[in-house]
Amino acid sequence: MALEKYIRDIVDFPKKGIVFKDITPLLASSEATSECLQVLLESLNKQKIDKVVGVESRGFFFATLLAQELNAGFIPVRKPKKLPFNTISASYELEYGSDSLEIHIDAIQKGDKVLIHDDVLATGGTAKAVCELVEKLGGEIVQLNFIMELSFLNGRGKVKEYPVFAVITY
Ligand code: IMP
Repeated sequence: MALEKYIRDIVDFPKKGIVFKDITPLLASSEATSECLQVLLESLNKQKIDKVVGVESRGFFFATLLAQELNAGFIPVRKPKKLPFNTISASYELEYGSDSLEIHIDAIQKGDKVLIHDDVLATGGTAKAVCELVEKLGGEIVQLNFIMELSFLNGRGKVKEYPVFAVITY
């Protein structure tokens, strides 16, 4: 199945000059979602995973599906002040200024094998911050996987210590 046809380009969203890759048509198709999930699972080659970390908010969809299939726990990484319990945070650079992400302090146990999932790998700043959070808690990163990679932004360069997999590369 050609999953590309379930990704919609939205011109000038969220601001002028950006072509936003929209996964909602993929999510709206049970067949495409199932196919995408299988491709993500196969990329892991049956490696053991204890926790799947999903990045707010579009990373949550497949991270929860992956966690169930892998018999692993799902862990949310969220924007500041959204998580209710004690957190640690990591910052990352934006085009103008910086932002940060948080994780619960008890979300990962030392030595846990961790899969990180998000919908899109763009510049890699978000992914790098998530890796920092996971490693601060003692997790071992097995793979970072994405539905899409915007390879012209070289996000892989920011996370080159880790295996990276994307279902679709632009
Ligand atoms: P990065 O930090 O530049 O790699 O950006 C990745 C983050 O921005 C991810 O959490 C994505 O959800 C979001 N993102 C960047 N570009 C797109 C896009 O075209 N579609 C959907 N999300 C995007």
